[in-house]
Amino acid sequence: MKKRIGIIGGGAAGLFAACQLKRLSGGAGIDVTVLERNPVPGMKLTLTGHGRCNITNRKPVSMLKNGYHEAGNFIYPALKEFGPDDAIAFFENELGLKTKEEDNNRIFPVCDSAVKVRDAILSYLSDGITVICDSRVQDIKKTSCFEVSAQDGTYCFDQLILSCGGSSFPKTGSTGDSYRFAEGFGHTVIPVRAALAPVKADAVSSGLTSGLSGVSVIAGVSVYCQDRKIASRTGEMLFAEFGLTGPAVMEISREIPSDIQKGSVWIELDLVPSMNDEQFDVELQRLINEHPDSKIATLLSGFVPASVAGEVCSRAGAADLYAQNFTKDNRRKIIKEMKHLRIGIEQAPSIDKAYVTRGGVSLKEIDRKTYASRRVPGLYVIGEAIDIDGISGGYNLQACMSEAYLVAKDILGF
Ligand SMILES: Cc1cc2nc3c(=O)[nH]c(=O)nc-3n(C[C@H](O)[C@H](O)[C@H](O)COP(=O)(O)OP(=O)(O)OC[C@H]3O[C@@H](n4cnc5c(N)ncnc54)[C@H](O)[C@@H]3O)c2cc1C
Repeated sequence: MKKRIGIIGGGAAGLFAACQLKRLSGGAGIDVTVLERNPVPGMKLTLTGHGRCNITNRKPVSMLKNGYHEAGNFIYPALKEFGPDDAIAFFENELGLKTKEEDNNRIFPVCDSAVKVRDAILSYLSDGITVICDSRVQDIKKTSCFEVSAQDGTYCFDQLILSCGGSSFPKTGSTGDSYRFAEGFGHTVIPVRAALAPVKADAVSSGLTSGLSGVSVIAGVSVYCQDRKIASRTGEMLFAEFGLTGPAVMEISREIPSDIQKGSVWIELDLVPSMNDEQFDVELQRLINEHPDSKIATLLSGFVPASVAGEVCSRAGAADLYAQNFTKDNRRKIIKEMKHLRIGIEQAPSIDKAYVTRGGVSLKEIDRKTYASRRVPGLYVIGEAIDIDGISGGYNLQACMSEAYLVAKDILGF
């Protein structure tokens, strides 16, 4: 009698788990069924990497783990067992998708198509794995088996992989069902919130951000809460109609408290992150001395795009000032706007727009060597459902693949 394996959720984690079960078993001894609520699996997967699918990141595993915040040590064994090179080999040798490396060690398929990635996975699974769509699981009970009640009927599995995703981008199907099922099995769910999300500016600051909408800069981005800096990153960010976005802002969004009192939380932008205030002041004085007939906005456009320089000068009351008329007080105001530009925030980032979910099934209740539940024998939890979120750059799909591999190995007794 074959072992019946149920996979709840045909997203990245569930599909990768099915792939590894097929690959490692060679089809022998197991009967794998994926239940997916949508008419087609992998809807979120098709959106990844702006439709190009940033599969993984080729940093050494010892560095890669730092991209998973508090969960870095937890996920390390999984990354060591199935790391970026294994992921690339799987894509190239099993799925037939050649890969390429781009900036910051990011790996993409040569075809630049997340839809083709999803389709290649489905084609790989089509021989040997049952994938049932339009099958939203409503309830799971553990009796002599895992009794799964879905829209289209009841299933019985010996072992179950819970991979229904988190709560982010719910239009793709991940509406938090994982948490309901996990709690039903007695698991603790760490409260969820947005990670890798754009940030909405308050009414005062949105005038500034919308005026610069579409302009990208390299900046230091710090989150302040009650006058205390709670996190900072340096990298590319983008001004937008609604506020701020781009990699550095999205990465820091997970640190913004979910409960914001008016005026208590803001983002400070440092538009000259390579210098401290004193160094920037010295540089400013040098430029002023060397170019007395230049407008100050012109001098600042050596540091930031001209539109940002113009905005900074207006805010500092120096829009029409020439360098030769610049006073110490003018310089102080420019330094404030260039290095301490405050963007007020009234709302926590929206989970609907977040790329991933922070929080989820507590890692204390998951075995990091197998991703098996410590509460329920035969149950595994992987993907966004658990309390792991990575930075952007291929980290989140790599997490799904590494976890899926360990689960498949454990189920098959390797
Ligand atoms: C716009 C965007 C771009 C991204 N780009 C990248 C990138 O380039 N690289 C990267 O590494 N990561 C990226 N991510 C993150 C990555 O997509 C996720 O981390 C990953 O998809 C999580 O996989 P998952 O299987 O846990 O969840 P999901 O992919 O959300 O899959 C969960 C699946 O479960 C199904 N489901 C839910 N409830 C039920 C139920 N009750 N019954 C049956 N099925 C159910 C859902 O329909 C869904 O198909 C991106 C995310 C977004 C939103």
